[in-house]
Amino acid sequence: FRVTLTPIRRRDKGVAGAIAVLQDVTEAEKLEQSRREFVANVSHELRTPLTTIKSYAEALDDGALDEPPLADRFVGVIRSETERMIRLVTDLLHLSRFDSRHNQLRRQKTDLTEMLEEVVDRFSFQLRQKAITVSVKVDHQQKSAWLDRDGIDQVLDNLVSNAIKYTLDGGSIDITAGANETGQLAIAVKDTGIGIPKKDLHRIFERFYRVDKARSRNMGGTGLGLSIAREIVRAHGGSIAIDSEANVGTVVTVQLPIVPEGSETA
Ligand code: ADP
Repeated sequence: FRVTLTPIRRRDKGVAGAIAVLQDVTEAEKLEQSRREFVANVSHELRTPLTTIKSYAEALDDGALDEPPLADRFVGVIRSETERMIRLVTDLLHLSRFDSRHNQLRRQKTDLTEMLEEVVDRFSFQLRQKAITVSVKVDHQQKSAWLDRDGIDQVLDNLVSNAIKYTLDGGSIDITAGANETGQLAIAVKDTGIGIPKKDLHRIFERFYRVDKARSRNMGGTGLGLSIAREIVRAHGGSIAIDSEANVGTVVTVQLPIVPEGSETA
């Protein structure tokens, strides 16, 4: 509430009383806050594909242009990343008015190995730079799933980009997918990185929450990646959990209900 007090003056300038106006400003403030968060979200989510496009353009500039097969591949990546950015902007607009019950998912049949390998491919520069090895394992019983591909790509990009950011040179990342004991699809991204202290774990999905602000910012982080990931996973009717040990590593597990192909519901 905003309280405004106006004195009621007598003719002799003395105060006879006051008028108090109580104004409900919570709604206006909420709107302003979500507007600010939205702008920050957009910047963060556009940074990942822009970084990829930039590194591929630089690689072309640095000589890849003279090797036609390589140049073709790099141009292909630039084009698909640009298209993904356009879809991301559209999705971010939806995300800004996010309501998991009314959010329309665009599900499609997704080959899990292909999806996970494409994520790894998008980060091949950073992975090579830090000499981080990656393994992708998909349970042969659960080869594909009916998912909103753009949404889950965004979740995976956020998780893999964190795993790279917070893992020292020479570390490793394991990505696994398969049905778990509750019959859900579990996708886990496990790293051998710096980990997260126990006291910070319960706050890690909050918007802007970062264990080490300076480190996160230096790495290009904004503290939004995990909260966006959680929103998308919840829209799928799933959940996301994090387990970590300082100086040992972190594992983020996404659990998604397995829905029948062609299903339009969350
Ligand atoms: P950021 O853009 O800062 O990475 P996120 O929302 O993705 O934002 O993550 C929030 C914070 O959680 C990070 O700043 C970092 O402190 C911590 N974190 C996330 N993933 C990892 C990880 N794999 N290893 C260690 N810390 C992590």
